[in-house]
This record gives sequence, C-alpha cells and structure tokens, in this order.
Amino acid sequence: MDLSAILNPLNDAQRAAVTAPVGPVLVLAGAGSGKTRVLTHRIAWLICTEGVSPHGILAVTFTNKAAAEMRTRVEQLLGVPSGPMWLGTFHGLAHRLLRLHWREAGLAQGFQILDSEDQLRLIKKLLKASGLDESGWAPKDVQYFINKHKDEGRRPGQVRAGADRVSVQMVKLYEEYEAACARTGVIDFAELLLRAFELWRDQPQLLAQYRARFRHVLVDEFQDTNAIQYEWIRLLVGASGAAFVVGDDDQSIYRWRGARIEHLHRFLVDFPQAQLLRLEQNYRSTGAILAAANALIANNSSRLGKTLWTRGAQGAAVKLYAAFNERDEAEFVVTRVLEWVQHGGARADAAILYRSNAQSRSFEEALIMARVPYRVYGGLRFFERAEIKDALAYLRLIVNRDDDASFERIVNLPARGIGARTLDAIRELARETGSSLWSATRASVTATGAAGAGPAGRSGGAIQTFVTLIERLAGEITRLPLHEAVDHVIRGSGLVEHYQKERADRGEARVENLAELVSAARGFVPEGDMPPLEGFLAHAVLESGETQAEPFEDCVQMMTLHSAKGLEFPLVFMCGMEDGLFPHQRSQSDLEGLEEERRLCYVGMTRAMRQLYLTHAEQRRVHGVDTYNAASRFIGEVPPELLEEVRPRIRLAQHPVQHPGTYRPSRETPARYGNGRAGAATGRSGGAVPAMAGARGSLEETLAGGMRLGARVRHGKFGEGVVLTIEGQGSHARVQVNFERQGSKWLMLQYANLEVM
Ligand code: ATP
Ligand code: MG
Repeated sequence: MDLSAILNPLNDAQRAAVTAPVGPVLVLAGAGSGKTRVLTHRIAWLICTEGVSPHGILAVTFTNKAAAEMRTRVEQLLGVPSGPMWLGTFHGLAHRLLRLHWREAGLAQGFQILDSEDQLRLIKKLLKASGLDESGWAPKDVQYFINKHKDEGRRPGQVRAGADRVSVQMVKLYEEYEAACARTGVIDFAELLLRAFELWRDQPQLLAQYRARFRHVLVDEFQDTNAIQYEWIRLLVGASGAAFVVGDDDQSIYRWRGARIEHLHRFLVDFPQAQLLRLEQNYRSTGAILAAANALIANNSSRLGKTLWTRGAQGAAVKLYAAFNERDEAEFVVTRVLEWVQHGGARADAAILYRSNAQSRSFEEALIMARVPYRVYGGLRFFERAEIKDALAYLRLIVNRDDDASFERIVNLPARGIGARTLDAIRELARETGSSLWSATRASVTATGAAGAGPAGRSGGAIQTFVTLIERLAGEITRLPLHEAVDHVIRGSGLVEHYQKERADRGEARVENLAELVSAARGFVPEGDMPPLEGFLAHAVLESGETQAEPFEDCVQMMTLHSAKGLEFPLVFMCGMEDGLFPHQRSQSDLEGLEEERRLCYVGMTRAMRQLYLTHAEQRRVHGVDTYNAASRFIGEVPPELLEEVRPRIRLAQHPVQHPGTYRPSRETPARYGNGRAGAATGRSGGAVPAMAGARGSLEETLAGGMRLGARVRHGKFGEGVVLTIEGQGSHARVQVNFERQGSKWLMLQYANLEVM
C-alpha cells in the first residue's frame, strides 16, 4: 500500500488531520475545504499505517450516494476491497445491526421497515380504532409527535405528558402505535435509530463486543446529527472517544428534523481531550463564488467562526437573472445549459437547485421542450407525485369512466368508507360481466336501489356518493376553461382538504403541488383540435416516465438545496431566489429559522465550482395565483461587485444607463436588491423622470395605451407610480415602475393591467 498516494494529495492542514493521533478529533471547516476528502484519506491512513483492519472501521455519511462514493475512493486509495468496513448512513448501519441482533433487540426475525406513508396509514387505523376523529386528531400531528420523541430517545413512559387531555391521549396513541408495530413486526425510521441505541445501551456485553471491534468511528456532516445519533456514536466510542468527526456549523440544515449544531460544541465538552482542527483552504469554488458565499453567511449571528480562502482563480462574477415569470426563468436556465453543452460541457456538470420540489415543474417542462435529458434527485418528477396522480385520476375518470386504474386509485380517496368487501364484489361483478369497474359499480348501485342485491349498508351508500360525485363534477366542468376545470375537480374531490390534514410541511407541499397542477393547466396550449382536458391529460402521461434519463445517461441534475449537501457541480443555478420562497415564508419571522435558511443558501452557493447563477422571477404563479415577490434578501447580502446582472433581452427603450439617477442594470444592482425595497431610492431621485423624456416619441409609437417612460400609472395592488424602464416586446414587454408606497417593481406589461393616468 502506498502511503504517498494517501498523503500527497493533501495540504498541510489536511495532512495533520488525516494523521492525527488516534483519539477524538473534530475537524471544523467550511465548505469545499476537503472535509470529506480528509475523512476518506483518514480511513486509508488508518488501514495503511496503524494496521487497522477494515473490519474495525465504522464510517457514517449522509446519503447512500456519498457512502458509495466514499467506498470507491477508499478502494482506489488502498487498492483493496472495503467490504468488511461498516460504511453507510445512520439508518443503514442501524438496520444492519438490528438484522444481526434482532433477538436481543426484541424484534421479529423478519422485521420489515415501515416507510412514512405506511406509518401514517397505521396511525390512521389506530385513531379509528380508538374512536378519535381525524379532524380533531390530525394523523400527521400524531406521527410528528411519535417521531419527535423517538428522535430524542423517549419511549412513551418517558414522555412527560401534561395533565391536559390532548397530551395524555397523544402518549396513549404512542403506546398503542408501539404495540401495533411489535404485533405486526414492523419498525419505522426513527425506531431503527432508537432501537439500535437501546440495544447497545441495554446489552453491555454486546456493546463491549462492538467497542472492541469498531475502534475507529468516523462521521461526515456531523453538524446534522440529531440527539439519538449523537448518543449512539458516543455510546460506541465510549471513554476512549476515538471518533473522527468532520462538520461545518454553517451547513447545518436539518434543525427541523431534530439536528443540533450544538453537537459540535458538545463533542468538545464530552471529550475534553479532543483535538479541534481546522481547514481553511477551499478547493472547490472560484474566488468570486467563495467571496459571495462568505459575505452571505457573515450575516448569521451564531457562528463558530471560520476562515475560508482559495488559491484558485477569481473566476466570473456570480450571475443574476431577473426573470419575468417562472417560465422565463426556466427558459433562461435551459438556454444557458444548452450553451454550456455547446461549449463542450457535460450535462451532468450542470445542477438546477431549488428550495421546494414544486418548483421543478417549470424546469422539467422547459428541459423536455429543449430535449435535454435530466434527472430529478430526492423527489419525484412532478407528474409522478402521488397527489398529482390522484388529481389526474379524477380528471381521467371524468373523461373516461372505464379507466379502471384511475377508478381503483380514487374510489376511496379521500376515505369515504368504502369497504374492501364492497370493492371485491365490484371487481368480481366486473370480471363476470366483462365490464369496467365503473359500469359494475353503477349496475350494483342500481341493483341495490331496485332489489337490495348490491352492496348494502354504509359501504353501499358510500359507493353511491362516489358515483354521484364523479357525475356531478363531470357536469360542472363542461363549460369551464381548462385551468378552472382542473381547479374545480381538485377542490370538489376533497383532495385539498385531505392533504391539508397531513403534517404541516408535508401536507403543505402536496397542496402546493396541486396548485402547481392548476398553473400547468393554465399554461397548457392544446395541439390541434383536441379537447383541452384530453390534451392536457395526454401531455401529463407523456411527461411522466418517458423522458426521464437512463441511469447512466449524461443528464442535467435537478434537486432541492437540501439534497445537494456535500455535492459539487461546475455549473450551478439557484432558482426562485425570492422572499417568501427562499427564505421560505415560514422562516421569515423567526431569527433561528431565517438563519437556517441562510445556511441553506450558503450550502447551495458553495456547491458551485466554476459558475453560479442566481435567478428570481418578478412574477410567479404560486398556489394558482400570481405573486410578485421581492428578490430574496440573500441576493442583497452578496456584495454588488461580485454580482453581474444578465439581461439578454433586446432593449426597446433608450438605454437608461445614460441618465444619471435611473435604474442601471449592472451597476445599481445593490440598490435594487438591497432588501427588496431599496430600489425606490434610485427611482425617486429628482432628475430621473425628466431626463428620460427624450425617449417618449419612439415609445408611444410602439406601445399601446400611452405607456411611456415617465408616465404615471396605477396598478390594482401597488397603487400609483412612475414608469422608469420599458424593455422587451410583445408578450415579453415589461416595465419597471417606481411605486410611491411599494418602491420599484418590474411587471409584465401583458399581465400588470396598468392604467395610464
Ligand atoms: P462540503 O462542506 O461541501 O461537504 P468538503 O469540505 O467535504 O465540502 P470535499 O468535498 O472533501 O470538501 O472537497 C471539495 C473539493 O476539493 C473536492 O473536489 C476535492 O476533491 C477537492 N480537494 C480537497 N482537498 C484538495 C487538495 N488538497 N488538493 C486538491 N483538491 C482538493
Ligand atoms: Mg463534504
């Protein structure tokens, strides 16, 4: 084994970390400084020089993807298989442990893992069995309650319930849930961790055995460990504390899942002999990207403080694009990707990052149009998401009652008390008569009415309700425009209500996605003379599946900012940089939440190696309504000299740069993005409006309604203001208006309904 291969590709600080004496080590360092590289080389070094067997190493990373990569890297360094090493995610390793010791852990031998959908289903069943109504006892809340306590290591007996009825009942549900899991031999995600922890805690002999085996424990992304993960590691390493952990407090982004940055501090307290090492050189990003990210994160108050610099080139400025709307944003990104590919770049080197999964749709559509293969990570493609498929199933059944798959999908969704026996009878009847489920249902419903032969009682009533619902919806939408029809069916079906009951973040995301479907319908242009709804449904089918890239195809990478952690890409687009979207609405009001969003922004920016684009849309359709979000405050936190605004559109107006005091695209970026409102200061300065008067004549000829530079206009929502800039033509024309109360805003002329005064 070649020691130089392990140590040569490292700088001094990295080498010091890799070769640190065995014992507790905390490497605290910024993004792209080589933490993951150090961890990998440490493993190789331990094996190579300390004579440690791969058998004695346990390494935890954040994702399966990262684990696989680490394995490959170690094998490359050592030239031997890493098989016997325990290398994986917390959940993966806990699972492995429990499979080996199911008996000691009190589990069934063939125990199965319960995913969160299944978990929820089980909770619903329990609620029903206890006679608790879902409207008062949101299953998602119960799920959250259970998981939260498990994450903190508490069994029902250890939860300090208040005296109130609700908390007593919650604890009781937690107990019943546990009993049900035990009875059916299943185990949820949080349980994997808790059970693995308890196994070692309660079985000293077993623990001793594992301590003797895993003398070397390594943890990547340590800042995102939750309480039970931390305790599990602490238990395993014991007093010797031979844990090698690497992390970055500025990249902690899972507070909402119980992760605690404080574990970085606690590690030093729990292991007073720990060495604290720092890495300061960034190898990933250009100087401009790094400076931008550093400036952003400097706005956070509670930081451990780190330095990060690069010897690499300064590189191009961070590019900023203000799109008209989300479609323009997507087109812009795709155009840039195509340019990148034309210049020899790999598609896989380009990443589109966004705050929430619902944002992927407009990018997916634009990529499909441009025939660019792409892959969506850690989240389903839009038209494949469960809630979207549910809504489409309603629409499909309305269009074609004989669509059995759609029938099956929604006949009891939302739950309307149609029992399994009733459904079986319908299936049977359909089989016998060779008809569709719908026809069989109708036949049986009629039969019930006539001779009492069909499904009886509650279930029979429920199936009748379903039939009536579909017929009614079908009748109601015949005259509606496509998007209103879609909206009407989504609401009328009860899907919105159904998903609203889910735990806050999840349910909210689903409802947002449903609203996105309405937006998609609004933007849909049917081909030929196909009825719009049928055209739209065909479009949805074609979009799912078909164009998803093959596993090894070179394709554009799309994912949320959360799933981008630890990864790097030469070309990165961070999209939807708007207040309310990112930082997310929920996090804007509390400081801790805002700081976590800022860390997420920092994570996103530091994924970029060569070129970083930030994009935002002036107008965006969210939840089916147009919103005019201010540019994200995070854009304003990037020093203006590091930002360069991109304006690919042809200007119609005389370039206002010539006029002092007016909006100037690149130089005045800070004013416009200062805090989303500061742009007003620029526009209001005295000379601005008269100075532009020269542009009047030509514009009046081009634009209807007397829209011209300097014109006073009124907007339904923003009130009165003065037109500062006009750009683009036709449906792309847009204006910048300095509103008296709201400051300056860009609006699409086509949609803004500005009244010239
Ligand atoms: P993150 O905080 O995003 O997880 P990190 O600190 O784990 O980042 P790595 O992913 O290990 O950083 O390294 C970032 C990039 O820099 C990688 O491409 C890595 O190969 C490269 N790199 C790290 N150290 C060196 C070095 N000494 N010489 C050359 N390249 C290096
Ligand atoms: Mg890393």
